[in-house]
Amino acid sequence: MTRWIALPVLLAVTLAAPVSAQVPAPLPVTVIKAGRLIDPETGTAAVNQVIVIEGERFKAIGANLPIPPGATVIDLSKLTVLPGLVDAHTHMGMTYKEQPENNYYYLTYVTDSTPLRAIQAASNGMQLLNAGFTVVRDVGNNALYVDAALRQAIEQGWLPGPTVIPSGPMIGSTGGQFWPTPEMYKQHNIMFPEYIDANSPDEIVRAVRENMLFGARTIKLCIDCKPWGYSVDDIRLAIREAATGGCKVEGHVQTAAGAQRAIDAGIYIIAHGNALTPEHHRQMAEKGIFLAGTDTPFTAYRATEAAFKRAVDNLRDAWEKKVPLTFSTDFDYWNERMKDAKTGRWLTRGELTIEFLRTWKTAGIPAADTLRAMTINGYKAADIIADRGPIKPGFFADLIAVPGDPLADVDALRTVVFVMKNGMVFKRDGVMAPADFFHPGPVRMPNGRWTR
Ligand SMILES: [Zn+2]
Repeated sequence: MTRWIALPVLLAVTLAAPVSAQVPAPLPVTVIKAGRLIDPETGTAAVNQVIVIEGERFKAIGANLPIPPGATVIDLSKLTVLPGLVDAHTHMGMTYKEQPENNYYYLTYVTDSTPLRAIQAASNGMQLLNAGFTVVRDVGNNALYVDAALRQAIEQGWLPGPTVIPSGPMIGSTGGQFWPTPEMYKQHNIMFPEYIDANSPDEIVRAVRENMLFGARTIKLCIDCKPWGYSVDDIRLAIREAATGGCKVEGHVQTAAGAQRAIDAGIYIIAHGNALTPEHHRQMAEKGIFLAGTDTPFTAYRATEAAFKRAVDNLRDAWEKKVPLTFSTDFDYWNERMKDAKTGRWLTRGELTIEFLRTWKTAGIPAADTLRAMTINGYKAADIIADRGPIKPGFFADLIAVPGDPLADVDALRTVVFVMKNGMVFKRDGVMAPADFFHPGPVRMPNGRWTR
C-alpha cells in the first residue's frame, strides 16, 4: 500500500525540481601529445599529433591543436601512439590444466564453478588490457554466461577491462563438442551451460534468442563438431535470427565440408584455419568472410613443430588470397611451463597472447598487414567499428603507446607502456595504475540493464 502513496509524492518532488539542478557536470578533458600516431587503415604514421579527449570520447585530432584550458596533458611525445589491439577469438573464462584434468576441458567444466571462472575472466581481461588488447571477442566455453557478465561488469564500471564481445554458450547439434554418456547427457543435463543443443529450426531460433537475451553480442555456432552438424539452411536461419538482435555469426569449423557449408551460408567469421583449403580461402576473400585462424605458435608450453608449420602455411595462403584476417588465439589453457626462461617469472595472459605474433612473422606477413588484422579487421569482426577502435573524433577513446615502431617491426607491440580505455588511463610509464576505474557501484550504467 505504501507505494500507492509514495509514488505520486516522488513524482511531484521530481517534477518540481528546478531545472538548474539537472545541469550535468562538465566532462573532464585530457590532451595527449603523440610523437607519432599510426593509422593502421593506411599503414602510415603522422608526427607530433595532439589528441583531445572529452569524457569517454575523442574530440579532435591534429597537429598544433590548441590545448583547452584546464585540460590534463599527457606527454607521449617520445612514443608511438596507435589504436588498441583485438584478440578476435579467445576464452577468458576457461582455463584447462595438465593437473588434474590432463588438458581435458570436460573436467574443467566439472571442477571449476561459474563464479570461479568469472573471476578468472576478470583477471584475464585486466592482463589483456595491460598488454594493449582493448577489444576481445570471447566466444563460448564460458560456463553460465561468464563472458556476458564480464562485459556488463566492465560496462557498469566495476572494474577495468577490454570491450568484451560475448557469444554466450556455443550452439551446436546434439552433443556439441562433448561425447557424454547417456546418463550424464539425459539424467544430468551435462551439455548446458557449456553448450546449447539445438537441432531443429525451432530449437536454433530459441537458442539464438536466449543467448541474445542473456547478453550475447555475437552468436557462435558449432558447424561440424558432429557428423550431424548444421546444413546451409540451418546456418542461414541462425544468421537471420541473430540479425534481429544485432548479432553477427561465427562458425567453429573443423572439417572441409563444414567450412564449405559455412561459406555457402554467408557466415560472418570462420574460426580455426586448420581445415581450410586454398579454395576455401579464395571463396572467403571473394565473400569478405573474416578468418579467426587461431594460429598457435610452437613454444615450450604449447603446440608441435608440425602443427606450427601447418598454421604458418595456412595463414600465409589466406594472406596471399587476401582473406580478411584477424588476430586470434583460442587461448584457454595453462601449464607449469608458462614462465619467462630467463627470469622464471610467470608469463601473463597478455604476454602469452601477443606471442602469437610469432606465427605472423614466420609466415612473412608484412607488419602493416599484421597491424591491420590486429586493429581495423578486429573492430570489423567485432562489429564495433561504427564507434570504437579507430582514433577519430566522436569515437570511444581507446588507445595504446609503444616505444618502438610497429610498422617497421611488429614485435614493438610486445612493449605496450601506455593504455587508455574509454578516456581513462589504465597503464602509464609501463605500470598498471587502474585505481581510477574502481567505484562502489555501477557508475557507468546506473540502471543496471543491458545497453542493447
Ligand atoms: Zn575457441
